[in-house]
Amino acid sequence: MNCEEYEKLLMRFGQLTNREEEELRAHAAGCPACAKVLEFIELEQRWIKRLCPQNRCMQRH
Ligand SMILES: [Zn+2]
Repeated sequence: MNCEEYEKLLMRFGQLTNREEEELRAHAAGCPACAKVLEFIELEQRWIKRLCPQNRCMQRH
C-alpha cells in the first residue's frame, strides 16, 4: 500500500473491514508520517466515543 491508498482508507476509518484495518496498520508500521496521522485519528475517535457513547449527538446534527 502507498500513502495515497492509506489516506483513502483513513477517510473511512471506523467503517473499515478487519482486513482493511490490518493493511492500514501494516503501512503505518513502516511509514512514520502515516503512523502519526493514525495516532491522531484514533485519539479523536476515542474522544467522540467518550463525549457521546451512543453517537446521539452525531445523529442530531
Ligand atoms: Zn505512508
